[in-house]
Amino acid sequence: MSPHSRSLAAQRRGMSDRGTQYEAVVVGAGPAGITCVGNLLERKLSPILWVDDAFDGGRVNRLYREVPSNTKVKTFLDFAEALTPFREIVSAGGKQEGRMRELKGVDPEKGCKLGMAADMCLALTEGLRGLPGVVATKGRLEEGTLDENPRSPSQWVVKVREGGDAVTSVRTKRLVLCTGASPTIEPLPVELQNSRPLELDTALSPTRLSSALSSQSPLNVAVIGASHSAILVLMNLYHLASSSKPDLRIRWLTRHSLRYAEYMDGWILRDNTGLKGEAAEWARQNLEPETFKQSDVSNFIKRIDYEAGDEEGTYEENLQGCQFYVQAIGYRPDPLPKLKTRGGKEITPYFDNERGTFTYVKESEGGSVGDLARLPGLYGGGIAFPERVVDPRGNVEHAVGFWKFMKFVQRVSPGWN
Ligand SMILES: Cc1cc2nc3c(=O)[nH]c(=O)nc-3n(C[C@H](O)[C@H](O)[C@H](O)COP(=O)(O)OP(=O)(O)OC[C@H]3O[C@@H](n4cnc5c(N)ncnc54)[C@H](O)[C@@H]3O)c2cc1C
Repeated sequence: MSPHSRSLAAQRRGMSDRGTQYEAVVVGAGPAGITCVGNLLERKLSPILWVDDAFDGGRVNRLYREVPSNTKVKTFLDFAEALTPFREIVSAGGKQEGRMRELKGVDPEKGCKLGMAADMCLALTEGLRGLPGVVATKGRLEEGTLDENPRSPSQWVVKVREGGDAVTSVRTKRLVLCTGASPTIEPLPVELQNSRPLELDTALSPTRLSSALSSQSPLNVAVIGASHSAILVLMNLYHLASSSKPDLRIRWLTRHSLRYAEYMDGWILRDNTGLKGEAAEWARQNLEPETFKQSDVSNFIKRIDYEAGDEEGTYEENLQGCQFYVQAIGYRPDPLPKLKTRGGKEITPYFDNERGTFTYVKESEGGSVGDLARLPGLYGGGIAFPERVVDPRGNVEHAVGFWKFMKFVQRVSPGWN
């Protein structure tokens, strides 16, 4: 049996006594989990227990392989070269180096399909799982209990469900949450008779979108939002309408004009919130007031501008006639494992997006609610827990992207003690 498929209990039996006490438990094996495991190994911290539902590169591989990247290929190559364990994996020859070939073959100054970045994640995941000191367990981290003891450093006792009823408890000094985020779904202020939500993740994939809409004809689809994802969905819908589905019409509901990332002298304005890459180029050519009317896009897309606060009337008027609507209004962190104190009190963690640490409301001596205190041993990274950055003009953003996760964790993880 390969080390990758052994159960957690069996792997722990195969390790030294230290195997029952981990230096870190990392939850999630998307780009952020890969980043954190790599950084902890770089600091010679092991053993590490690495827990994920699938070890398949996270959402970027599961859902976004067909999506054009909003970052240049060189940011992914820099990611793969940022740490010693990564460099060893991608240069060792064999399967993992092969997985990098396509990414290395394209112009580093251009974008690529996210599938190439996902293949890099698969290479790094497979390589890290095979390293001594990494115990990778497919399963769900369900619960973490903070074991605070005035006489010794705090620890977390975590419960991992490996499928079925098998739940294993282990102790760790550090619990690192890289648990990801999913599209935001807001309840609509109107009751729709015949209109159904179409998942943003489905609409982002041309293949899945095409099959989701294949049986409906004629068809009206509404897209709510002007985010990067909204533009990608409009692109996908337009390509479908102008090829195999000519009776498809799209209503685009937007509250503001399009915002683009701008390349300044050594920095990027709206680096995390503005349109970039293929989506930006397509939007400039087809969706701006001066290009829209001349573009073939206007034969299929109707633009509906409205103000914040006018949702009810706008949706009532425009969504009722659509069979589907897509909300492309951002991403929200996925649910966390249940966190609690040894006494059983639930812990709500508040992320410190400058240090990658958390705070919580600590019970004061008498048992009443106390002040916010540092939550020992809990850390976070990735799209769920990104760094807060301020650009030279004072704009505040959350830094989301492979290379940004890496820079953040490289900076803060030496303080994760
Ligand atoms: C449409 C889109 C396009 C993007 N394009 C780019 C781009 O071009 N360039 C770029 O750099 N970035 C891009 N990003 C941003 C970012 O890099 C990705 O969102 C990235 O996939 C986030 O990685 P993550 O590891 O934080 O989360 P995820 O990839 O979601 O990984 C989280 C993992 O944790 C697991 N998990 C969660 N909870 C538990 C638990 N309790 N127990 C066990 N496992 C658990 C999940 O199963 C999952 O595997 C894009 C994002 C989106 C949405």
